[in-house]
Amino acid sequence: MVEVPNDVAVAQDSRVGRAALDPLDWDKAMVAGLAQDQGVCVRPLARRLVDRVSGEASTVVLPCGSTRESRCPSCAKRARVLRMHQCAEGWHRVDELPEVDLEPGHDEADGDLESDDDDGGPGRVVRSTRRRGDAGDLPVRPMEARTVGRRFTAADGKVYRPSMFITLTLPSYGRIIRGQGVPVDPGRYHYRRAALDAMHFAKLVDRWVQNLRRGAGFKVQYFAAIEPQRRLAPHVHVAMRGAIERQVIRQVTKGTYFQLWWPSFDVPLYVHRSPVFVDGAYRDPDTHQALKTWEDALAELDQDPDARPAHVMRLGAQVDVKGILAGTKDADRTIGYLTKYLAKSMSSPMGDSQQSGSPAAAHHDRLAAEVRWLPCTPGCGNWLRYGIQPKDAGPGLRPGCCPSKAHDAEHLGLGGRRVLVSRKWTGKTLDVHRADRAAVVRQVLEEAGVQVAEPDRCAADVLAPDGEPRFVWSELPPGESSYNAAVFAQILQRHEWRAQYDRAKRVTGRTGPPVDNRSATHPPTDNAA
Ligand SMILES: [Zn+2]
Ligand SMILES: [Zn+2]
Repeated sequence: MVEVPNDVAVAQDSRVGRAALDPLDWDKAMVAGLAQDQGVCVRPLARRLVDRVSGEASTVVLPCGSTRESRCPSCAKRARVLRMHQCAEGWHRVDELPEVDLEPGHDEADGDLESDDDDGGPGRVVRSTRRRGDAGDLPVRPMEARTVGRRFTAADGKVYRPSMFITLTLPSYGRIIRGQGVPVDPGRYHYRRAALDAMHFAKLVDRWVQNLRRGAGFKVQYFAAIEPQRRLAPHVHVAMRGAIERQVIRQVTKGTYFQLWWPSFDVPLYVHRSPVFVDGAYRDPDTHQALKTWEDALAELDQDPDARPAHVMRLGAQVDVKGILAGTKDADRTIGYLTKYLAKSMSSPMGDSQQSGSPAAAHHDRLAAEVRWLPCTPGCGNWLRYGIQPKDAGPGLRPGCCPSKAHDAEHLGLGGRRVLVSRKWTGKTLDVHRADRAAVVRQVLEEAGVQVAEPDRCAADVLAPDGEPRFVWSELPPGESSYNAAVFAQILQRHEWRAQYDRAKRVTGRTGPPVDNRSATHPPTDNAA
């Protein structure tokens, strides 16, 4: 009986002797290419694992887990495949899921918010319970307690339960040259609005879902992927369970808006000078007068009857709606399309054609400059630029240096969620989906008599008889891990795993999902998120 190694590859602890052609001396770029060819992580992390019970120490190699192709094609591909499974599992389900308790933030649209505003947090004066006068009416239907779509019976007696695929875009910020994604007149393109819309896009999508649920009369479930358009604005593809009249979808799209009730940040007050942190507050660098606090700025906003939201956003008029039937080629193809760009950065549509000085590069840089200086959240250091102390501000904040991804040239405003999934899509977190996939493989192995390591056998919460954690994970001292050794260990482990799995499938005559070197267990790692 063979013991299947844990999901992680184990590198040899002793140093291999250095012969002339020792693979450990290969060029790093070559080894990275090999890792990519073999489908293993190109940026593996080596960790020291000590088993306090057996006294064994080993070096464990963990995949980096990046979702970006540019960082690690292998990990990004696995992440995308996992998302495809998640999407497929929930789309056409016909049964109701029991109430599930997922981690907070999983489905932002699930709350029954009545307001179309971000009012800066709980306990604030409710800004406007009335809808904007310039927004179209929203359809409303009595709510049924269901999440699955209706059935339709065809003349031949066949029953259909159709679902939908919807694409939503943002409005125009100025005319674009067809096929190039760059403005006809960059001087008249609304970069600021484009940047703010990108930064808050996910909130607008949440709002749209809430409005759609009310209009459709049932708790519509969705799997949505936010992707970049050529013009570098985000758009969203939504797989939706059940069918809704196109008229309702159009009306909801037209009537949906999102208002950001933040203090005004139209005019920067500190451009060449920066506020300084003295005596627990940010102050004017010359007069040392304290800047307005976030709370005071919000209170002022509440007391001003003529106050306007800092930003209002709406969806573009272009709405693409397609009906999809379960089990068709169309459904499969659509899932591939839906997840196609998840491994790409927001700036990728500019692609390799982007040469410095080209209109495409100028367009990208102009938008990047805009997202860099706008505030991303109430706690963002960029508020200092507008003369306001960020919420809960401590020392060390500098405008233009907020660490949130939203501000960088790769994310172009879209620092947060790229995939939005409703609670009752599958009722599972991504971790559970990952474990499910591994469980299928494990079952095949077990049926073939291959002994399988317990999942999580090296987890940090496994205790030794003395009540203390049995396994101790730590960083490797510098110089103790070799990149090449880590990659080779992964490749060997993958081959061994695949051989065992193929053999097991032959023995049991079963088929399962194609094996990847997805871990059967989920070792604790520093970058688990
Ligand atoms: Zn990786
Ligand atoms: Zn920020």
